[in-house]
Amino acid sequence: MWANPAAAAIDALTLGGRYDGAQANINFRVYSSRATRIEVWIYKTASGAQEKVKYVMTKDAGTNVWSKTVSVATLQATYGITGPVYYGYRAWGPNWPYNSGWAKGTGTGFLSDVDGSGNRFNPNKLLLDPYAREVSQDMVTPSCADGTLYASGATHRNKDSGACAPKGIVLAADTQSTGTKPTRAFKDDVVYEVHVRGLTKNDSSVASALRGTYAGAAAKASYLAGLGITAVEFLPVQETQNDTNDVDPNSDSGDNYWGYSTLAFFAPDRRYASDKTAGGPTREFKAMVKAFHDAGLKVYIDVVYNHTGEGGAWGGTDGLTVYNVQSFRGLDNPTYYSLTSNFQYPWDNTGVGGNYNTHNPTAQNLIVDSLAYWRNTLGVDGFRFDLASVLGNTCEHGCFNFDKMDSGNALNRIVNELPPRPAGGGSGPDLIAEPWAIGGNSYQVGGFPTGWAEWNGKFRDALRKAQNKLGVDVVTTGELASRFAGSSDLYGDDGRKPWHSVNFMVAHDGFTLRDLYAYNSKVNNRAWPYGPSDGGEDNNNSWDQGGDAYAQRRAVRTGLAFMMLSGGVPMITGGDEMLRSVNGNNNPYNLDSSANWLNWALDTNATNQKTFATRLIAFRKAHPALRPANFYSSVDNNGNVMEQLRWFKPDGGVADAAYFNSSSNHAIVWRLDGSEFGDSASALYVGYNGWSGQVNFTLPWPGAGKSWYRVTDTATWNDGANTFAVPGSEAFIGGEGTVYGIEARSLLLLIAK
Ligand code: CA
Repeated sequence: MWANPAAAAIDALTLGGRYDGAQANINFRVYSSRATRIEVWIYKTASGAQEKVKYVMTKDAGTNVWSKTVSVATLQATYGITGPVYYGYRAWGPNWPYNSGWAKGTGTGFLSDVDGSGNRFNPNKLLLDPYAREVSQDMVTPSCADGTLYASGATHRNKDSGACAPKGIVLAADTQSTGTKPTRAFKDDVVYEVHVRGLTKNDSSVASALRGTYAGAAAKASYLAGLGITAVEFLPVQETQNDTNDVDPNSDSGDNYWGYSTLAFFAPDRRYASDKTAGGPTREFKAMVKAFHDAGLKVYIDVVYNHTGEGGAWGGTDGLTVYNVQSFRGLDNPTYYSLTSNFQYPWDNTGVGGNYNTHNPTAQNLIVDSLAYWRNTLGVDGFRFDLASVLGNTCEHGCFNFDKMDSGNALNRIVNELPPRPAGGGSGPDLIAEPWAIGGNSYQVGGFPTGWAEWNGKFRDALRKAQNKLGVDVVTTGELASRFAGSSDLYGDDGRKPWHSVNFMVAHDGFTLRDLYAYNSKVNNRAWPYGPSDGGEDNNNSWDQGGDAYAQRRAVRTGLAFMMLSGGVPMITGGDEMLRSVNGNNNPYNLDSSANWLNWALDTNATNQKTFATRLIAFRKAHPALRPANFYSSVDNNGNVMEQLRWFKPDGGVADAAYFNSSSNHAIVWRLDGSEFGDSASALYVGYNGWSGQVNFTLPWPGAGKSWYRVTDTATWNDGANTFAVPGSEAFIGGEGTVYGIEARSLLLLIAK
């Protein structure tokens, strides 16, 4: 059996601060190839107090690992550290050599904030261990509100950050189980993207002390299983600056609700734990995972390895000279970050700070090691990678070049060392890329390597335009057919499968599904709690449907049907099953507010929508023809006619190239032969009328002795509590040649029986 030799290398350097087996000693190990001295500083108190003791570390020249073994008995007896052990590092290097006269808060030894090699050592800054398993608190908290403590530059470099700085916590092993991981094939998943805090912060059915926490989310496992989704994908849960969210609701600056700015890649965010003691977030996260596993659901987490929470330049006389020195930057700046060719500035393809140096083997180690920790120890089933094109970069400094063929890029290394789940199911993470970034050749929808599923941005864009931009943008029926059938043009050419296409209409980043069809443009400047939010995409392919509330709900139903009836893996965003709205805000990243948390007080329309979504998802799960393992084919490998899928024009004729390519056609039909998939239905029919008026559709052959029955019609006349038929109650429509008028902008789903 093939074994991956590289897998044995995961976490080979055993970095971090760890107890030995008997918990008699703590081994501190940190990487730096450029430091000339590193000390580990140990604290009894998480924040607001000075260190109890410090030790000089020793460098191993072969690995560039600095280490120190510390006796637990000594920490307890001599220094009174009887509770959790908090720690950080102080490092010196070529731009700031060690001087025995240095003391906290002084510039003794200082040469420069940055030297010609990109070193940014500063011993006044307590550095967070990149391998910290938990973090004591955020950088800025209500009791430590001065963010300039972490900064370099003339004004800030001598400020000592030790008392306020986030510290690593040495964790003892716990016994919390994460349950049994589902082994379901990814092709059979339905993904639900949601914020762990937003899921329950506003949910009165959850105990008040648990709302907005991992434990609160765990309480929603049965609801989510009942909705039918099979994988919950949490927005980032790795430690980020969020403790001060909402401290001043009147200010929109600095708040970080979404959390796409990671401070520590191993640490579950303490803010989302109801148990905030040392080890509490880890245990509570694992218990949440177990609750989801017990309900048969996978847990995915959104991971942000393209940049870090240390950020980019934020001040100075030229705006480019002040940087936070908080962790990676102060340990080994050129190893952990991609820099400009003169090593003075970050290279940036994210818009939110310097690129993480994803082509550096040591920086890659942290990616792989942390993913393995979340998979193995914390029980996670898959990952969604933010701005993942940065992980395909093959240039460390002075340029950016995405190259999927480079065996040494981070994307291929992840696949090699954490082999993804096999096509038919089993163990291994599901790997999902957001296949773009900013600038260079970073837009790579369809361009990722083997092993990677992608957020299919072309599915989103084409189908939004089809629904909302009639007469403005051309979307051919050929384009629609490609998207409905799993985008073989994007994923078939390199041997990938339909399920490598994650089909979505909206994500956290942009309008909610309801708002996509209720606003012509973003409205981000509202007063709290609906805003204000800066930024936000200007080109949303959105439309308010002329202000017609019935048409808006029709559009939501149609958009949901697009996702659930297409080949690929559908992803909905939390609350879209119940008409979630953020009143037109398309970039509410900063709104840790009641308006942005899911609203569980459903009105009649929201209740009806939830019923529709639940039945639609159940229909997908009941019909394997909708979840193809391979691209739909008309012939098999032996040349036998299969006719798994056939495309028709509304008049019942077979759609040909001329029909597909004409920009004047807006209606398309596909018929799936259920017998090809072991489906309980002999045939399924989907008709979409994207035109502005009703179109008559002549139904094709339903199969010998069969007739067509209506499962749903998303039309406005079918608004209400029973828009989607439960199995067995589908309405009789007729046989081959029956003419059915499909309302404007509506979708008809029929089943043959
Ligand atoms: Ca935090």
